[in-house]
Amino acid sequence: MPAVMWFRRDLRTRDNPALLQAAAEGEVLPLFVLDPRLWGPAGPSRRSYLTASLRSLGADVPLAVVHGDPVRRVVEAAREVGADRVHVAADYGPYGHARDLEVERALAEAGVELVRTGSPYAVAPGRVTNGSGEPYKVYTPFSKAWADHGWRAPVDAPTGVTWVSLEDTTDVPETALPAGLELPEAGEAAAHRRWADFLDVIADYADDRDKPAVDGTSRLSVHLKYGEVHPRTLLADLATLRSAGAATYRKELAWREFYADVLFARPDTARDYLKPDYGRMRYDDPADHLEAWQEGRTGFPIVDAGMRQLRGMGWVHNRVRMIVASFLVKDLHVEWQHGARHFLHWLVDGDLASNNHGWQWVAGSGTDAAPYFRVFNPTSQGRKFDPRGDYVRRWVPELADVADPHDPSADDRDRVGYPHPVVDHAEERREALDRWEEIR
Ligand code: FAD
Repeated sequence: MPAVMWFRRDLRTRDNPALLQAAAEGEVLPLFVLDPRLWGPAGPSRRSYLTASLRSLGADVPLAVVHGDPVRRVVEAAREVGADRVHVAADYGPYGHARDLEVERALAEAGVELVRTGSPYAVAPGRVTNGSGEPYKVYTPFSKAWADHGWRAPVDAPTGVTWVSLEDTTDVPETALPAGLELPEAGEAAAHRRWADFLDVIADYADDRDKPAVDGTSRLSVHLKYGEVHPRTLLADLATLRSAGAATYRKELAWREFYADVLFARPDTARDYLKPDYGRMRYDDPADHLEAWQEGRTGFPIVDAGMRQLRGMGWVHNRVRMIVASFLVKDLHVEWQHGARHFLHWLVDGDLASNNHGWQWVAGSGTDAAPYFRVFNPTSQGRKFDPRGDYVRRWVPELADVADPHDPSADDRDRVGYPHPVVDHAEERREALDRWEEIR
Protein backbone atom coordinates (compact mmCIF):
# COMPACT_ATOMS: atom_id res chain seq x y z
CA MET A 1 0.00 0.00 0.00
CA PRO A 2 1.39 3.47 -0.87
CA ALA A 3 2.38 5.86 1.90
CA VAL A 4 2.42 9.66 1.87
CA MET A 5 5.59 11.55 2.85
CA TRP A 6 4.38 15.01 3.78
CA PHE A 7 7.45 17.32 3.60
CA ARG A 8 7.39 20.49 5.68
CA ARG A 9 10.61 21.75 7.33
CA ASP A 10 12.62 18.77 6.08
CA LEU A 11 13.26 19.46 2.40
CA ARG A 12 15.92 16.79 1.92
CA THR A 13 16.33 13.12 1.07
CA ARG A 14 19.45 12.31 3.13
CA ASP A 15 19.20 11.71 6.86
CA ASN A 16 15.42 11.93 6.75
CA PRO A 17 14.06 9.12 8.98
CA ALA A 18 10.41 9.93 8.18
CA LEU A 19 11.11 9.48 4.46
CA LEU A 20 12.91 6.22 5.19
CA GLN A 21 9.88 4.96 7.13
CA ALA A 22 7.56 5.90 4.27
CA ALA A 23 9.79 4.17 1.72
CA ALA A 24 9.89 1.01 3.84
CA GLU A 25 6.14 0.61 3.26
CA GLY A 26 6.16 0.53 -0.55
CA GLU A 27 5.26 3.27 -3.04
CA VAL A 28 5.59 6.83 -1.79
CA LEU A 29 3.71 10.02 -2.62
CA PRO A 30 6.09 12.93 -1.84
CA LEU A 31 3.76 15.80 -0.92
CA PHE A 32 4.15 19.48 -0.07
CA VAL A 33 1.19 21.66 0.89
CA LEU A 34 1.48 25.40 0.29
CA ASP A 35 -0.43 26.53 3.36
CA PRO A 36 -1.90 30.06 2.99
CA ARG A 37 -1.56 30.56 6.75
CA LEU A 38 2.22 30.23 6.45
CA TRP A 39 2.65 31.63 2.95
CA GLY A 40 0.56 34.76 3.65
CA PRO A 41 2.69 36.23 6.44
CA ALA A 42 6.05 35.08 4.99
CA GLY A 43 8.11 37.96 3.62
CA PRO A 44 9.86 38.05 0.25
CA SER A 45 13.02 36.29 1.47
CA ARG A 46 11.33 33.21 2.87
CA ARG A 47 8.80 32.92 0.02
CA SER A 48 11.49 33.09 -2.56
CA TYR A 49 13.84 30.75 -0.75
CA LEU A 50 11.10 28.21 -0.06
CA THR A 51 10.12 28.04 -3.72
CA ALA A 52 13.76 27.60 -4.74
CA SER A 53 14.15 24.85 -2.16
CA LEU A 54 10.99 23.11 -3.39
CA ARG A 55 12.30 23.22 -6.96
CA SER A 56 15.55 21.71 -5.78
CA LEU A 57 13.81 18.91 -3.87
CA GLY A 58 11.54 18.44 -6.88
CA ALA A 59 14.61 17.60 -8.97
CA ASP A 60 15.38 14.68 -6.60
CA VAL A 61 11.85 13.38 -5.99
CA PRO A 62 8.69 13.99 -8.06
CA LEU A 63 7.20 16.31 -5.45
CA ALA A 64 3.43 16.84 -5.64
CA VAL A 65 2.73 20.43 -4.59
CA VAL A 66 -0.84 21.36 -3.67
CA HIS A 67 -2.28 24.59 -2.31
CA GLY A 68 -4.74 25.01 0.56
CA ASP A 69 -5.56 24.03 4.13
CA PRO A 70 -3.45 20.99 5.08
CA VAL A 71 -6.33 19.55 7.10
CA ARG A 72 -8.25 19.08 3.85
CA ARG A 73 -5.43 18.67 1.34
CA VAL A 74 -3.47 15.95 3.18
CA VAL A 75 -6.60 13.84 3.68
CA GLU A 76 -7.52 14.23 0.00
CA ALA A 77 -4.01 13.27 -1.11
CA ALA A 78 -3.97 10.15 1.11
CA ARG A 79 -7.39 9.11 -0.20
CA GLU A 80 -6.43 9.64 -3.84
CA VAL A 81 -3.41 7.33 -3.69
CA GLY A 82 -5.08 4.91 -1.27
CA ALA A 83 -2.51 5.41 1.51
CA ASP A 84 -3.23 4.32 5.05
CA ARG A 85 -0.27 6.19 6.56
CA VAL A 86 1.04 9.73 6.26
CA HIS A 87 4.63 10.19 7.45
CA VAL A 88 6.01 13.45 8.84
CA ALA A 89 8.83 14.78 11.00
CA ALA A 90 7.11 16.15 14.12
CA ASP A 91 6.63 19.91 14.26
CA TYR A 92 7.08 21.48 17.71
CA GLY A 93 6.25 25.10 16.85
CA PRO A 94 2.97 26.53 18.16
CA TYR A 95 1.21 26.61 14.78
CA GLY A 96 2.67 23.40 13.35
CA HIS A 97 1.96 21.41 16.49
CA ALA A 98 -1.71 22.46 16.59
CA ARG A 99 -2.08 21.97 12.82
CA ASP A 100 -0.72 18.44 13.04
CA LEU A 101 -3.21 17.52 15.77
CA GLU A 102 -6.04 18.70 13.51
CA VAL A 103 -4.65 16.87 10.49
CA GLU A 104 -4.22 13.76 12.63
CA ARG A 105 -7.91 13.89 13.68
CA ALA A 106 -9.11 14.41 10.11
CA LEU A 107 -6.91 11.59 8.84
CA ALA A 108 -8.15 9.26 11.60
CA GLU A 109 -11.73 9.86 10.44
CA ALA A 110 -10.64 8.70 7.00
CA GLY A 111 -8.94 5.63 8.50
CA VAL A 112 -5.42 6.98 7.88
CA GLU A 113 -2.68 7.20 10.50
CA LEU A 114 -0.32 10.19 10.92
CA VAL A 115 3.12 8.81 11.79
CA ARG A 116 5.69 11.20 13.32
CA THR A 117 9.33 10.18 13.00
CA GLY A 118 12.09 12.53 14.11
CA SER A 119 11.95 16.33 14.23
CA PRO A 120 14.02 19.26 12.93
CA TYR A 121 16.23 18.91 16.03
CA ALA A 122 18.91 16.52 17.25
CA VAL A 123 16.90 16.10 20.45
CA ALA A 124 13.16 16.70 20.21
CA PRO A 125 11.86 19.64 22.28
CA GLY A 126 10.42 18.49 25.60
CA ARG A 127 12.87 15.57 25.92
CA VAL A 128 15.55 17.27 28.00
CA THR A 129 14.27 18.09 31.49
CA ASN A 130 15.84 18.99 34.83
CA GLY A 131 15.88 16.81 37.98
CA SER A 132 12.24 17.71 38.70
CA GLY A 133 11.11 16.85 35.19
CA GLU A 134 10.68 20.56 34.31
CA PRO A 135 12.00 22.25 31.17
CA TYR A 136 15.24 24.19 31.58
CA LYS A 137 14.99 27.98 31.70
CA VAL A 138 18.69 28.71 31.31
CA TYR A 139 20.94 27.73 28.41
CA THR A 140 24.08 26.37 30.15
CA PRO A 141 22.45 23.57 32.19
CA PHE A 142 20.21 22.78 29.21
CA SER A 143 23.17 22.42 26.87
CA LYS A 144 24.94 20.04 29.27
CA ALA A 145 21.85 17.88 29.70
CA TRP A 146 21.25 18.02 25.92
CA ALA A 147 24.78 16.77 25.22
CA ASP A 148 24.39 14.02 27.85
CA HIS A 149 21.09 12.95 26.31
CA GLY A 150 22.77 12.45 22.92
CA TRP A 151 21.18 11.76 19.55
CA ARG A 152 20.87 9.08 16.91
CA ALA A 153 23.37 8.63 14.08
CA PRO A 154 22.34 9.99 10.66
CA VAL A 155 20.56 7.66 8.24
CA ASP A 156 21.11 7.27 4.48
CA ALA A 157 18.69 8.38 1.79
CA PRO A 158 16.27 5.65 0.72
CA THR A 159 17.12 3.87 -2.53
CA GLY A 160 14.98 2.19 -5.18
CA VAL A 161 11.82 4.07 -4.14
CA THR A 162 8.77 3.86 -6.42
CA TRP A 163 7.18 7.29 -6.38
CA VAL A 164 3.54 8.04 -7.09
CA SER A 165 1.87 11.38 -7.79
CA LEU A 166 -1.50 13.15 -7.81
CA GLU A 167 -3.82 14.06 -10.70
CA ASP A 168 -3.98 17.77 -9.86
CA THR A 169 -0.98 19.61 -8.55
CA THR A 170 0.02 23.26 -8.43
CA ASP A 171 3.16 24.69 -9.97
CA VAL A 172 5.64 26.04 -7.46
CA PRO A 173 4.83 29.79 -7.54
CA GLU A 174 7.17 32.24 -9.21
CA THR A 175 8.32 34.87 -6.71
CA ALA A 176 10.08 38.16 -7.29
CA LEU A 177 12.72 39.54 -4.98
CA PRO A 178 12.79 43.23 -4.08
CA ALA A 179 15.64 45.13 -5.76
CA GLY A 180 18.92 44.76 -3.92
CA LEU A 181 18.06 41.52 -2.11
CA GLU A 182 20.24 38.52 -2.96
CA LEU A 183 19.67 35.12 -1.37
CA PRO A 184 21.96 32.11 -1.07
CA GLU A 185 21.46 29.07 -3.28
CA ALA A 186 18.73 26.80 -1.92
CA GLY A 187 18.57 23.04 -1.66
CA GLU A 188 20.12 20.00 -0.07
CA ALA A 189 23.17 19.92 -2.35
CA ALA A 190 23.88 23.62 -1.68
CA ALA A 191 23.59 22.99 2.07
CA HIS A 192 26.13 20.17 1.93
CA ARG A 193 28.50 22.25 -0.20
CA ARG A 194 28.30 25.12 2.28
CA TRP A 195 28.97 22.74 5.17
CA ALA A 196 31.97 21.19 3.37
CA ASP A 197 33.42 24.67 2.70
CA PHE A 198 32.86 25.68 6.31
CA LEU A 199 34.60 22.55 7.61
CA ASP A 200 37.78 23.88 5.94
CA VAL A 201 37.74 26.92 8.27
CA ILE A 202 35.86 25.58 11.31
CA ALA A 203 39.09 25.51 13.35
CA ASP A 204 39.02 29.34 13.27
CA TYR A 205 35.32 29.58 14.18
CA ALA A 206 35.87 30.25 17.89
CA ASP A 207 38.02 33.30 17.00
CA ASP A 208 36.17 34.52 13.94
CA ARG A 209 32.51 34.02 14.78
CA ASP A 210 32.14 37.45 16.37
CA LYS A 211 33.68 39.42 13.50
CA PRO A 212 30.96 40.59 11.13
CA ALA A 213 33.47 41.64 8.44
CA VAL A 214 34.78 38.07 8.18
CA ASP A 215 32.91 35.21 6.48
CA GLY A 216 33.69 33.14 9.56
CA THR A 217 30.33 31.56 10.37
CA SER A 218 28.68 28.64 8.63
CA ARG A 219 25.64 30.48 7.12
CA LEU A 220 23.79 27.22 7.64
CA SER A 221 20.87 28.79 9.53
CA VAL A 222 18.76 28.98 6.39
CA HIS A 223 19.53 25.38 5.41
CA LEU A 224 18.64 24.24 8.93
CA LYS A 225 15.46 26.31 8.88
CA TYR A 226 14.16 24.44 5.82
CA GLY A 227 15.66 21.14 6.86
CA GLU A 228 17.89 20.89 3.79
CA VAL A 229 20.39 19.43 6.21
CA HIS A 230 19.67 17.97 9.64
CA PRO A 231 21.66 19.07 12.72
CA ARG A 232 22.40 15.40 13.45
CA THR A 233 24.38 15.23 10.20
CA LEU A 234 26.45 18.21 11.34
CA LEU A 235 26.89 16.81 14.86
CA ALA A 236 28.15 13.51 13.45
CA ASP A 237 30.89 15.36 11.52
CA LEU A 238 31.71 17.52 14.55
CA ALA A 239 32.21 14.41 16.65
CA THR A 240 35.24 13.57 14.49
CA LEU A 241 36.89 16.99 15.09
CA ARG A 242 38.95 18.12 18.05
CA SER A 243 39.32 21.87 17.45
CA ALA A 244 38.00 24.60 19.76
CA GLY A 245 36.07 25.84 16.74
CA ALA A 246 34.19 22.55 16.41
CA ALA A 247 33.38 22.56 20.14
CA THR A 248 32.09 26.13 19.93
CA TYR A 249 30.01 25.30 16.88
CA ARG A 250 28.31 22.47 18.74
CA LYS A 251 27.36 24.92 21.48
CA GLU A 252 25.77 27.21 18.91
CA LEU A 253 23.65 24.37 17.57
CA ALA A 254 22.58 23.80 21.17
CA TRP A 255 21.21 27.39 21.29
CA ARG A 256 18.91 26.51 18.41
CA GLU A 257 17.71 23.43 20.27
CA PHE A 258 17.36 25.36 23.53
CA TYR A 259 15.12 28.04 22.05
CA ALA A 260 12.93 25.40 20.36
CA ASP A 261 12.61 23.70 23.75
CA VAL A 262 11.70 26.95 25.52
CA LEU A 263 9.07 27.81 22.92
CA PHE A 264 7.61 24.31 23.06
CA ALA A 265 7.27 24.58 26.86
CA ARG A 266 5.84 28.12 26.62
CA PRO A 267 4.17 28.60 23.21
CA ASP A 268 2.72 31.91 24.46
CA THR A 269 6.25 33.38 24.47
CA ALA A 270 6.21 33.65 20.69
CA ARG A 271 4.46 36.94 21.46
CA ASP A 272 4.30 37.43 25.22
CA TYR A 273 7.11 38.18 27.65
CA LEU A 274 8.81 35.10 29.11
CA LYS A 275 9.43 37.21 32.22
CA PRO A 276 6.04 38.92 32.57
CA ASP A 277 7.40 41.86 34.62
CA TYR A 278 8.92 43.24 31.44
CA GLY A 279 5.44 43.68 30.01
CA ARG A 280 4.95 46.38 32.67
CA MET A 281 8.01 48.34 31.60
CA ARG A 282 7.41 51.78 30.04
CA TYR A 283 8.01 51.67 26.27
CA ASP A 284 7.81 54.42 23.66
CA ASP A 285 5.51 54.77 20.71
CA PRO A 286 7.26 52.89 17.89
CA ALA A 287 6.15 55.59 15.44
CA ASP A 288 8.96 57.90 16.58
CA HIS A 289 12.04 56.09 15.29
CA LEU A 290 11.01 52.61 14.10
CA GLU A 291 11.21 53.52 10.43
CA ALA A 292 14.70 55.04 10.74
CA TRP A 293 15.81 51.81 12.44
CA GLN A 294 14.17 49.59 9.82
CA GLU A 295 15.75 51.53 6.97
CA GLY A 296 19.23 51.84 8.48
CA ARG A 297 19.12 55.62 9.04
CA THR A 298 19.68 55.93 12.80
CA GLY A 299 23.06 57.65 12.48
CA PHE A 300 24.72 54.78 14.43
CA PRO A 301 26.93 53.14 11.78
CA ILE A 302 26.99 49.54 13.04
CA VAL A 303 23.22 49.59 13.58
CA ASP A 304 22.57 51.00 10.12
CA ALA A 305 25.01 48.53 8.55
CA GLY A 306 23.15 45.63 10.16
CA MET A 307 19.73 46.85 9.11
CA ARG A 308 20.93 47.35 5.54
CA GLN A 309 22.55 43.91 5.53
CA LEU A 310 19.14 42.49 6.49
CA ARG A 311 17.57 44.04 3.37
CA GLY A 312 20.53 43.12 1.18
CA MET A 313 21.04 39.48 2.18
CA GLY A 314 18.02 38.42 4.23
CA TRP A 315 20.66 37.49 6.82
CA VAL A 316 22.55 39.42 9.49
CA HIS A 317 25.63 38.43 11.45
CA ASN A 318 24.70 37.22 14.97
CA ARG A 319 26.75 39.88 16.81
CA VAL A 320 25.05 42.58 14.76
CA ARG A 321 21.59 41.05 15.34
CA MET A 322 22.27 41.56 19.05
CA ILE A 323 23.48 45.13 18.56
CA VAL A 324 20.55 46.27 16.42
CA ALA A 325 18.05 44.52 18.70
CA SER A 326 19.55 46.13 21.79
CA PHE A 327 19.45 49.51 20.08
CA LEU A 328 15.75 49.21 19.25
CA VAL A 329 14.69 48.08 22.71
CA LYS A 330 17.13 49.96 24.94
CA ASP A 331 18.02 53.12 23.03
CA LEU A 332 14.71 53.65 21.26
CA HIS A 333 12.61 51.98 24.01
CA VAL A 334 10.48 50.08 21.50
CA GLU A 335 8.95 46.74 22.53
CA TRP A 336 10.85 43.74 21.14
CA GLN A 337 7.85 42.38 19.24
CA HIS A 338 8.10 45.21 16.69
CA GLY A 339 11.69 44.32 15.92
CA ALA A 340 11.02 40.58 15.89
CA ARG A 341 8.22 41.09 13.35
CA HIS A 342 10.46 43.15 11.08
CA PHE A 343 13.21 40.53 11.31
CA LEU A 344 10.80 37.72 10.47
CA HIS A 345 9.60 39.66 7.44
CA TRP A 346 13.10 39.95 5.96
CA LEU A 347 15.20 37.12 7.38
CA VAL A 348 15.61 34.16 5.09
CA ASP A 349 16.41 32.01 8.15
CA GLY A 350 13.46 33.59 10.05
CA ASP A 351 12.54 31.05 12.68
CA LEU A 352 9.96 31.77 15.39
CA ALA A 353 11.88 30.11 18.24
CA SER A 354 15.40 31.42 17.50
CA ASN A 355 14.21 34.85 16.43
CA ASN A 356 11.67 35.65 19.10
CA HIS A 357 13.78 34.20 21.89
CA GLY A 358 16.87 35.90 20.46
CA TRP A 359 14.90 39.13 20.77
CA GLN A 360 13.65 38.33 24.27
CA TRP A 361 17.21 37.49 25.36
CA VAL A 362 18.43 40.91 24.21
CA ALA A 363 15.37 42.71 25.63
CA GLY A 364 16.12 41.17 29.04
CA SER A 365 12.69 39.53 29.23
CA GLY A 366 13.91 36.14 28.01
CA THR A 367 16.40 33.49 29.06
CA ASP A 368 19.40 35.74 29.77
CA ALA A 369 20.52 34.73 33.27
CA ALA A 370 22.58 37.92 33.88
CA PRO A 371 21.50 39.66 37.10
CA TYR A 372 21.92 43.12 35.52
CA PHE A 373 20.30 44.92 32.57
CA ARG A 374 22.63 44.73 29.55
CA VAL A 375 22.73 47.81 27.36
CA PHE A 376 25.08 47.56 24.37
CA ASN A 377 26.97 50.70 23.41
CA PRO A 378 26.67 50.59 19.61
CA THR A 379 29.84 52.63 19.03
CA SER A 380 32.11 50.58 21.27
CA GLN A 381 30.55 47.33 20.03
CA GLY A 382 31.35 48.47 16.48
CA ARG A 383 34.95 49.36 17.39
CA LYS A 384 35.46 46.09 19.23
CA PHE A 385 34.00 43.66 16.70
CA ASP A 386 34.66 45.58 13.46
CA PRO A 387 37.95 47.28 14.39
CA ARG A 388 38.92 48.29 10.84
CA GLY A 389 35.39 49.39 9.98
CA ASP A 390 35.25 47.05 6.95
CA TYR A 391 31.77 45.79 7.79
CA VAL A 392 30.35 49.27 8.27
CA ARG A 393 32.00 50.53 5.09
CA ARG A 394 30.57 47.65 3.08
CA TRP A 395 26.96 48.23 4.14
CA VAL A 396 27.06 52.00 4.65
CA PRO A 397 29.08 53.03 1.60
CA GLU A 398 28.64 56.76 2.38
CA LEU A 399 31.15 56.18 5.19
CA ALA A 400 33.76 54.56 2.92
CA ASP A 401 36.27 57.40 3.20
CA VAL A 402 35.49 59.01 6.57
CA ALA A 403 38.22 58.97 9.19
CA ASP A 404 36.23 57.19 11.92
CA PRO A 405 33.50 55.03 10.39
CA HIS A 406 32.16 54.05 13.83
CA ASP A 407 31.73 57.62 15.02
CA PRO A 408 31.89 60.03 12.08
CA SER A 409 32.29 63.72 12.93
CA ALA A 410 29.34 66.07 12.40
CA ASP A 411 31.20 67.64 9.45
CA ASP A 412 31.83 64.25 7.87
CA ARG A 413 28.15 63.33 8.27
CA ASP A 414 27.06 66.53 6.53
CA ARG A 415 29.66 66.12 3.80
CA VAL A 416 28.71 62.54 2.86
CA GLY A 417 24.97 62.84 3.59
CA TYR A 418 24.92 60.40 6.51
CA PRO A 419 22.34 61.12 9.27
CA HIS A 420 23.20 62.56 12.67
CA PRO A 421 22.40 60.18 15.57
CA VAL A 422 18.65 60.01 16.21
CA VAL A 423 19.28 59.80 19.99
CA ASP A 424 22.05 60.36 22.52
CA HIS A 425 23.18 56.89 23.58
CA ALA A 426 24.43 57.91 27.06
CA GLU A 427 21.08 59.56 27.86
CA GLU A 428 19.02 56.67 26.55
CA ARG A 429 21.13 54.18 28.46
CA ARG A 430 20.32 56.03 31.70
CA GLU A 431 16.66 56.17 30.69
CA ALA A 432 16.59 52.42 29.97
CA LEU A 433 18.13 51.66 33.37
CA ASP A 434 15.64 53.97 35.11
CA ARG A 435 12.75 52.18 33.45
CA TRP A 436 14.23 48.83 34.42
CA GLU A 437 14.56 49.99 38.08
CA GLU A 438 10.83 50.70 38.05
CA ILE A 439 9.94 47.04 37.39
CA ARG A 440 12.62 45.33 39.50
P1 FAD B 1 26.74 30.07 12.93
O1 FAD B 1 27.54 30.97 13.79
O2 FAD B 1 27.46 29.33 11.87
O3 FAD B 1 26.00 29.07 13.91
C1 FAD B 1 25.65 27.74 13.52
C2 FAD B 1 24.20 27.48 13.78
O4 FAD B 1 23.94 27.51 15.18
C3 FAD B 1 23.29 28.52 13.18
O5 FAD B 1 23.04 28.25 11.82
C4 FAD B 1 22.05 28.37 14.06
O6 FAD B 1 21.25 27.27 13.67
C5 FAD B 1 22.64 28.06 15.42
N1 FAD B 1 22.79 29.29 16.20
C6 FAD B 1 23.88 30.07 16.31
N2 FAD B 1 23.66 31.09 17.17
C7 FAD B 1 22.39 30.94 17.58
C8 FAD B 1 21.56 31.68 18.49
N3 FAD B 1 22.00 32.76 19.14
N4 FAD B 1 20.29 31.27 18.66
C9 FAD B 1 19.82 30.17 18.03
N5 FAD B 1 20.56 29.43 17.19
C10 FAD B 1 21.82 29.81 16.97
N6 FAD B 1 18.71 32.28 14.07
C11 FAD B 1 17.90 31.69 13.18
O7 FAD B 1 18.22 30.60 12.71
N7 FAD B 1 16.73 32.26 12.81
C12 FAD B 1 16.32 33.46 13.30
O8 FAD B 1 15.24 33.95 12.94
C13 FAD B 1 17.18 34.14 14.21
N8 FAD B 1 16.86 35.37 14.71
C14 FAD B 1 17.69 35.97 15.62
C15 FAD B 1 17.31 37.21 16.16
C16 FAD B 1 18.11 37.83 17.11
C17 FAD B 1 17.69 39.16 17.70
C18 FAD B 1 19.31 37.22 17.50
C19 FAD B 1 20.21 37.90 18.51
C20 FAD B 1 19.70 36.00 16.97
C21 FAD B 1 18.88 35.35 16.03
N9 FAD B 1 19.24 34.11 15.46
C22 FAD B 1 18.39 33.49 14.58
C23 FAD B 1 20.45 33.41 15.91
C24 FAD B 1 21.72 33.67 15.09
O9 FAD B 1 21.89 35.04 14.90
C25 FAD B 1 21.70 32.97 13.73
O10 FAD B 1 21.36 31.61 13.89
C26 FAD B 1 23.06 33.04 13.06
O11 FAD B 1 23.45 34.37 12.90
C27 FAD B 1 22.97 32.34 11.71
O12 FAD B 1 24.17 32.45 11.00
P2 FAD B 1 25.12 31.19 10.83
O13 FAD B 1 24.34 30.02 10.34
O14 FAD B 1 26.27 31.64 10.02
O15 FAD B 1 25.54 30.93 12.33
